[in-house]
Amino acid sequence: MIILQDYNLTELTTYLTENFSVKPFVAKQIFGWLNKGVDFDGMTNISKQLRSQLKEKCVALSCTIIQTLTSQIDGTQKFLFKMSDGNLVEGVLMKYKYGNTLCVSSQVGCRMGCKFCASTLGGLVRSLSAGEILGQVIAVNALGNGQERYVTNIVLMGSGEPLDNYQNVTKFLQLVSSPDGLNISERNISLSTCGLVPQMKQLADEGYNVNLTLSLHNAFNDQRYQIMPITKAYSVEQAVDALRYYFDKTGRRVIVEYTLIDGQNDSYSHALKLASLLRGLSVHVNIIALNPVKETGLKGTSENTLKKFISYLEKLGISATRRRSMGRDIEGACGQLRKRYLEGDNEE
Ligand code: SAH
Repeated sequence: MIILQDYNLTELTTYLTENFSVKPFVAKQIFGWLNKGVDFDGMTNISKQLRSQLKEKCVALSCTIIQTLTSQIDGTQKFLFKMSDGNLVEGVLMKYKYGNTLCVSSQVGCRMGCKFCASTLGGLVRSLSAGEILGQVIAVNALGNGQERYVTNIVLMGSGEPLDNYQNVTKFLQLVSSPDGLNISERNISLSTCGLVPQMKQLADEGYNVNLTLSLHNAFNDQRYQIMPITKAYSVEQAVDALRYYFDKTGRRVIVEYTLIDGQNDSYSHALKLASLLRGLSVHVNIIALNPVKETGLKGTSENTLKKFISYLEKLGISATRRRSMGRDIEGACGQLRKRYLEGDNEE
């Protein structure tokens, strides 16, 4: 089956003209419906005959929301998306004063093997296509009751390593930021990576302008390797050089994520090493207390140590703030998103 949300307007027009002899203005109408999250049955200005022909060969919406959980603490919502082949991924909508940020998944599972993260348990099933990432944004945006910009910001921080799915993720960036589509500016999109250095540079070379975020979590290579196997392929110095490269090309301040794990990366010497690694870079550090994932056996740092760690960094001249953890009661916080199965959850 062809997933129509994989196409931009030009590609969709070509596809529909060549295969269904559809006129360009009709293709444009269909494109409009796709961006509103409307399935074939709701495309009221398209002839029934064409719609039934399309249904035989194509999927209009790449995914549907099959479950929604709402946090009692902060109103954060977690969605379970079902892809057209039955695979499931999770996404999270966080509501802030300035707008709504949607966290989307880029892969079903993940093969990076970070020791603290739920998304990688069980490995990678498959990468999502551009339209399957876009479909998550469109499905949630459609919940805004006709409000054109219900989702204002996007973070590629759900399950998966976005740069391990480079072609589809960059195509997604083009689709979602296109004025023909949802028109969400790259400035409002953050892409988080565990540090795939060549692809970080490629993003800069190809002129992307997203907020690039590096998940660092430890500035010592030997220790980082213990929790993030990717360190064997690319050292922390190489990853930080790639951030510098990105900043030099794009002028966009880069971000480092640092999750504090009790007794592992939260001492003064860790702060010192982190500060010396980041010295001279236009960077902001987001500090997060580890969110519990029961399989990992790892514990988050105490409140007290977390505050101390931030003050060490500030004294060392590094801009750092705590990133509020949202949706913990629905396992919707960083690192808690995982593969789910329809019949019987895989966790129990
Ligand atoms: N693969 C990408 C994006 C997904 S993870 C990446 O590595 O950046 C999004 C963020 O959540 C990353 O910074 C990740 O390291 C962090 N994270 C993973 N597990 C976590 C946990 N249990 N508690 C807090 N943050 C976690």
